[in-house]
Amino acid sequence: MKVFKFGGASVKDAAGVRNVANVLRHFPNDDLLIVVSAMGKTTNALEEVVWGFCDGVPVAEKMEALRKSHLTVLAEAAPNDVAAAAELVLHFDRLNTFLKGKPSESVDRDYDQIVSQGEIWSTLIVSAHLKHAGLSNAWVDARTIVRTDDTYRSARVDWDLSERRAGGLLNEVPGSPKRIVTQGFIGFNAEGDTTTLGREGSDFSAAIFAYLLDAESVTIWKDVPGMFNADPKRFPDTKLLSHISYKEAIELSYFGASVIHPRTLQPLQRKSIPLYVRS
Ligand code: ASP
Ligand code: MG
Repeated sequence: MKVFKFGGASVKDAAGVRNVANVLRHFPNDDLLIVVSAMGKTTNALEEVVWGFCDGVPVAEKMEALRKSHLTVLAEAAPNDVAAAAELVLHFDRLNTFLKGKPSESVDRDYDQIVSQGEIWSTLIVSAHLKHAGLSNAWVDARTIVRTDDTYRSARVDWDLSERRAGGLLNEVPGSPKRIVTQGFIGFNAEGDTTTLGREGSDFSAAIFAYLLDAESVTIWKDVPGMFNADPKRFPDTKLLSHISYKEAIELSYFGASVIHPRTLQPLQRKSIPLYVRS
Protein backbone atom coordinates (compact mmCIF):
# COMPACT_ATOMS: atom_id res chain seq x y z
CA MET A 1 0.00 0.00 0.00
CA LYS A 2 1.12 3.49 -0.87
CA VAL A 3 0.03 6.61 1.00
CA PHE A 4 -0.67 9.73 -1.07
CA LYS A 5 -1.32 13.17 0.39
CA PHE A 6 -3.02 16.05 -1.39
CA GLY A 7 -2.96 19.44 0.35
CA GLY A 8 -5.55 22.20 0.37
CA ALA A 9 -4.05 23.99 -2.63
CA SER A 10 -4.30 20.79 -4.70
CA VAL A 11 -8.04 20.44 -4.06
CA LYS A 12 -9.02 24.11 -3.97
CA ASP A 13 -11.57 23.78 -6.79
CA ALA A 14 -13.20 21.25 -9.13
CA ALA A 15 -10.19 21.33 -11.48
CA GLY A 16 -7.94 20.40 -8.57
CA VAL A 17 -10.24 17.56 -7.55
CA ARG A 18 -10.24 16.25 -11.13
CA ASN A 19 -6.47 16.40 -11.13
CA VAL A 20 -6.39 14.06 -8.12
CA ALA A 21 -8.19 11.48 -10.26
CA ASN A 22 -5.69 12.08 -13.09
CA VAL A 23 -2.80 11.39 -10.74
CA LEU A 24 -4.45 8.22 -9.41
CA ARG A 25 -4.94 6.87 -12.94
CA HIS A 26 -1.18 6.47 -13.13
CA PHE A 27 -1.44 3.89 -10.33
CA PRO A 28 -4.11 1.49 -11.57
CA ASN A 29 -2.84 -1.53 -9.66
CA ASP A 30 -1.75 -0.04 -6.33
CA ASP A 31 -3.61 -0.16 -3.05
CA LEU A 32 -3.73 3.51 -2.05
CA LEU A 33 -4.60 5.43 1.07
CA ILE A 34 -5.31 9.00 0.01
CA VAL A 35 -5.04 11.68 2.69
CA VAL A 36 -6.71 14.99 1.83
CA SER A 37 -6.65 18.41 3.52
CA ALA A 38 -9.46 20.94 3.63
CA MET A 39 -10.07 22.76 0.33
CA GLY A 40 -8.11 25.95 -0.30
CA LYS A 41 -8.49 28.45 2.53
CA THR A 42 -11.33 26.59 4.27
CA THR A 43 -9.41 26.06 7.52
CA ASN A 44 -8.74 29.79 7.81
CA ALA A 45 -12.42 30.51 7.15
CA LEU A 46 -13.43 27.97 9.80
CA GLU A 47 -11.09 29.61 12.30
CA GLU A 48 -13.04 32.84 11.72
CA VAL A 49 -16.23 30.88 12.46
CA VAL A 50 -14.69 29.64 15.73
CA TRP A 51 -13.76 33.14 16.90
CA GLY A 52 -17.23 34.43 15.99
CA PHE A 53 -18.92 31.53 17.79
CA CYS A 54 -16.85 32.10 20.94
CA ASP A 55 -17.44 35.88 20.89
CA GLY A 56 -21.19 35.54 20.29
CA VAL A 57 -20.91 37.16 16.84
CA PRO A 58 -23.26 35.74 14.14
CA VAL A 59 -21.48 33.28 11.82
CA ALA A 60 -24.41 32.24 9.61
CA GLU A 61 -23.18 34.25 6.61
CA LYS A 62 -19.69 32.77 6.79
CA MET A 63 -21.17 29.27 7.06
CA GLU A 64 -23.47 29.86 4.12
CA ALA A 65 -20.52 30.94 1.96
CA LEU A 66 -18.66 27.75 2.87
CA ARG A 67 -21.73 25.60 2.23
CA LYS A 68 -22.32 27.17 -1.17
CA SER A 69 -18.72 26.89 -2.33
CA HIS A 70 -18.47 23.23 -1.29
CA LEU A 71 -21.79 22.29 -2.88
CA THR A 72 -20.74 24.08 -6.07
CA VAL A 73 -17.48 22.13 -6.30
CA LEU A 74 -19.32 18.88 -5.58
CA ALA A 75 -21.90 19.63 -8.30
CA GLU A 76 -19.07 20.21 -10.78
CA ALA A 77 -16.93 17.29 -9.69
CA ALA A 78 -19.68 14.71 -9.20
CA PRO A 79 -22.76 15.89 -11.10
CA ASN A 80 -25.99 14.10 -10.19
CA ASP A 81 -24.51 12.39 -7.14
CA VAL A 82 -27.59 13.01 -5.01
CA ALA A 83 -26.38 10.82 -2.16
CA ALA A 84 -23.08 12.69 -1.85
CA ALA A 85 -24.86 16.04 -1.92
CA ALA A 86 -27.26 14.89 0.81
CA GLU A 87 -24.33 13.66 2.90
CA LEU A 88 -22.50 16.96 2.50
CA VAL A 89 -25.62 18.92 3.43
CA LEU A 90 -26.06 16.71 6.50
CA HIS A 91 -22.57 17.59 7.74
CA PHE A 92 -23.25 21.31 7.22
CA ASP A 93 -26.58 20.98 9.06
CA ARG A 94 -24.88 19.28 11.99
CA LEU A 95 -22.24 21.97 12.27
CA ASN A 96 -24.89 24.71 11.99
CA THR A 97 -26.82 23.05 14.82
CA PHE A 98 -23.64 22.92 16.92
CA LEU A 99 -23.07 26.63 16.21
CA LYS A 100 -26.57 27.47 17.47
CA GLY A 101 -25.57 26.09 20.87
CA LYS A 102 -23.40 27.72 23.51
CA PRO A 103 -19.59 27.59 23.49
CA SER A 104 -18.18 25.06 25.95
CA GLU A 105 -15.71 26.01 28.67
CA SER A 106 -12.84 25.14 26.30
CA VAL A 107 -12.23 27.29 23.22
CA ASP A 108 -9.65 24.79 21.99
CA ARG A 109 -12.11 21.92 22.25
CA ASP A 110 -14.74 23.87 20.31
CA TYR A 111 -12.07 24.86 17.78
CA ASP A 112 -11.33 21.23 16.97
CA GLN A 113 -15.00 20.25 16.67
CA ILE A 114 -15.56 23.10 14.19
CA VAL A 115 -12.31 23.38 12.21
CA SER A 116 -12.07 19.61 11.60
CA GLN A 117 -15.15 19.78 9.37
CA GLY A 118 -13.16 21.22 6.48
CA GLU A 119 -11.43 17.87 5.99
CA ILE A 120 -14.73 15.97 6.25
CA TRP A 121 -16.24 18.12 3.47
CA SER A 122 -13.21 17.93 1.16
CA THR A 123 -12.88 14.16 1.47
CA LEU A 124 -16.58 13.64 0.73
CA ILE A 125 -16.11 15.66 -2.46
CA VAL A 126 -12.90 13.88 -3.52
CA SER A 127 -14.40 10.46 -2.81
CA ALA A 128 -17.54 11.30 -4.82
CA HIS A 129 -15.50 12.59 -7.73
CA LEU A 130 -13.28 9.52 -7.82
CA LYS A 131 -16.37 7.31 -7.96
CA HIS A 132 -17.78 9.52 -10.71
CA ALA A 133 -14.47 9.13 -12.58
CA GLY A 134 -14.63 5.33 -12.29
CA LEU A 135 -12.09 5.04 -9.48
CA SER A 136 -13.82 2.97 -6.81
CA ASN A 137 -12.90 3.96 -3.28
CA ALA A 138 -13.99 3.84 0.33
CA TRP A 139 -14.40 7.01 2.40
CA VAL A 140 -12.98 6.36 5.87
CA ASP A 141 -13.42 8.68 8.83
CA ALA A 142 -9.90 9.20 10.21
CA ARG A 143 -11.53 9.59 13.63
CA THR A 144 -12.13 5.84 13.72
CA ILE A 145 -8.35 5.23 13.48
CA VAL A 146 -6.16 8.08 14.72
CA ARG A 147 -6.51 8.02 18.49
CA THR A 148 -4.93 10.95 20.34
CA ASP A 149 -4.74 12.50 23.78
CA ASP A 150 -6.95 15.50 24.52
CA THR A 151 -4.47 18.27 23.82
CA TYR A 152 -6.89 20.08 21.55
CA ARG A 153 -5.31 21.92 18.59
CA SER A 154 -2.02 20.01 18.89
CA ALA A 155 -3.04 16.50 19.88
CA ARG A 156 -0.44 13.78 20.50
CA VAL A 157 -0.97 10.44 18.80
CA ASP A 158 -1.51 7.30 20.87
CA TRP A 159 0.44 4.97 18.58
CA ASP A 160 -0.55 1.71 20.29
CA LEU A 161 -4.29 2.36 20.32
CA SER A 162 -4.19 3.72 16.77
CA GLU A 163 -2.23 0.71 15.54
CA ARG A 164 -4.83 -1.63 16.99
CA ARG A 165 -7.59 0.31 15.23
CA ALA A 166 -5.76 0.36 11.91
CA GLY A 167 -5.23 -3.40 12.03
CA GLY A 168 -8.44 -4.45 10.28
CA LEU A 169 -8.76 -1.46 7.97
CA LEU A 170 -7.53 -3.01 4.74
CA ASN A 171 -9.63 -6.14 5.13
CA GLU A 172 -12.76 -4.06 5.66
CA VAL A 173 -12.33 -2.24 2.36
CA PRO A 174 -13.72 -4.12 -0.65
CA GLY A 175 -12.37 -4.08 -4.18
CA SER A 176 -9.04 -4.49 -5.87
CA PRO A 177 -7.03 -2.36 -5.90
CA LYS A 178 -8.19 -0.89 -2.61
CA ARG A 179 -8.47 2.88 -2.46
CA ILE A 180 -9.19 4.62 0.81
CA VAL A 181 -9.97 8.34 0.98
CA THR A 182 -9.48 9.83 4.44
CA GLN A 183 -8.80 13.10 6.22
CA GLY A 184 -5.55 14.69 7.22
CA PHE A 185 -5.22 16.82 10.34
CA ILE A 186 -7.86 15.13 12.54
CA GLY A 187 -8.15 12.42 15.17
CA PHE A 188 -10.26 11.59 18.20
CA ASN A 189 -9.69 11.19 21.92
CA ALA A 190 -10.91 8.88 24.69
CA GLU A 191 -14.07 10.98 25.14
CA GLY A 192 -14.92 10.50 21.47
CA ASP A 193 -14.36 14.18 20.72
CA THR A 194 -12.59 15.30 17.56
CA THR A 195 -9.01 16.52 17.98
CA THR A 196 -6.63 18.20 15.53
CA LEU A 197 -2.90 17.75 15.10
CA GLY A 198 -1.95 21.40 14.60
CA ARG A 199 -2.13 23.64 11.53
CA GLU A 200 -0.74 22.09 8.35
CA GLY A 201 -0.88 18.72 10.08
CA SER A 202 -2.04 16.69 7.08
CA ASP A 203 1.50 15.72 6.06
CA PHE A 204 1.88 14.31 9.55
CA SER A 205 -1.41 12.42 9.14
CA ALA A 206 -0.04 10.81 5.96
CA ALA A 207 3.01 9.67 7.94
CA ILE A 208 0.80 8.39 10.77
CA PHE A 209 -1.25 6.23 8.39
CA ALA A 210 1.91 5.02 6.64
CA TYR A 211 3.37 3.99 9.98
CA LEU A 212 0.18 2.28 11.16
CA LEU A 213 -0.31 0.36 7.91
CA ASP A 214 3.37 -0.40 7.17
CA ALA A 215 3.03 1.42 3.87
CA GLU A 216 5.72 1.00 1.24
CA SER A 217 6.01 4.77 0.71
CA VAL A 218 4.42 8.19 1.23
CA THR A 219 4.05 10.67 -1.62
CA ILE A 220 3.17 14.29 -0.95
CA TRP A 221 1.73 15.69 -4.18
CA LYS A 222 2.55 19.39 -4.50
CA ASP A 223 2.45 22.23 -6.96
CA VAL A 224 6.25 22.42 -6.68
CA PRO A 225 8.63 19.89 -8.27
CA GLY A 226 10.19 18.74 -4.97
CA MET A 227 12.46 19.87 -2.16
CA PHE A 228 15.15 22.49 -2.80
CA ASN A 229 18.34 23.16 -0.84
CA ALA A 230 16.96 26.67 -0.09
CA ASP A 231 13.80 28.67 -0.72
CA PRO A 232 13.73 29.20 -4.51
CA LYS A 233 11.54 32.29 -4.03
CA ARG A 234 14.34 33.94 -2.05
CA PHE A 235 17.59 32.64 -3.50
CA PRO A 236 18.72 32.63 -7.13
CA ASP A 237 20.85 29.47 -7.40
CA THR A 238 18.80 26.85 -5.59
CA LYS A 239 19.14 23.18 -6.46
CA LEU A 240 16.35 20.63 -6.61
CA LEU A 241 17.36 17.80 -4.29
CA SER A 242 16.96 14.37 -5.86
CA HIS A 243 17.57 12.55 -2.59
CA ILE A 244 18.08 13.53 1.04
CA SER A 245 18.44 11.67 4.36
CA TYR A 246 15.72 11.68 7.05
CA LYS A 247 18.07 13.62 9.30
CA GLU A 248 18.71 16.35 6.73
CA ALA A 249 15.01 16.54 5.87
CA ILE A 250 14.10 16.93 9.55
CA GLU A 251 16.69 19.70 9.91
CA LEU A 252 15.45 21.50 6.80
CA SER A 253 11.83 21.32 7.89
CA TYR A 254 12.59 22.54 11.41
CA PHE A 255 14.59 25.44 9.97
CA GLY A 256 11.58 26.52 7.96
CA ALA A 257 11.51 24.57 4.69
CA SER A 258 7.74 24.66 4.38
CA VAL A 259 7.63 21.77 1.90
CA ILE A 260 7.14 19.20 4.68
CA HIS A 261 5.55 19.55 8.11
CA PRO A 262 8.34 18.97 10.68
CA ARG A 263 6.62 16.14 12.56
CA THR A 264 6.19 14.11 9.36
CA LEU A 265 9.61 12.53 9.11
CA GLN A 266 9.95 10.83 12.47
CA PRO A 267 7.33 8.08 12.14
CA LEU A 268 8.62 7.36 8.65
CA GLN A 269 12.21 7.15 9.83
CA ARG A 270 11.22 4.69 12.57
CA LYS A 271 9.98 2.25 9.92
CA SER A 272 12.33 3.27 7.08
CA ILE A 273 9.41 4.31 4.89
CA PRO A 274 10.57 6.57 2.03
CA LEU A 275 8.88 9.95 1.46
CA TYR A 276 8.52 11.33 -2.06
CA VAL A 277 7.63 14.91 -2.89
CA ARG A 278 6.20 15.08 -6.41
CA SER A 279 4.56 17.59 -8.68
N1 ASP B 1 -6.38 22.02 6.77
C1 ASP B 1 -5.38 22.09 7.81
C2 ASP B 1 -4.69 23.44 7.75
O1 ASP B 1 -4.92 24.19 6.82
C3 ASP B 1 -4.39 20.97 7.74
C4 ASP B 1 -3.51 20.96 6.52
O2 ASP B 1 -3.80 21.64 5.54
O3 ASP B 1 -2.48 20.27 6.52
O4 ASP B 1 -3.94 23.75 8.62
MG1 MG C 1 -4.36 23.46 4.65
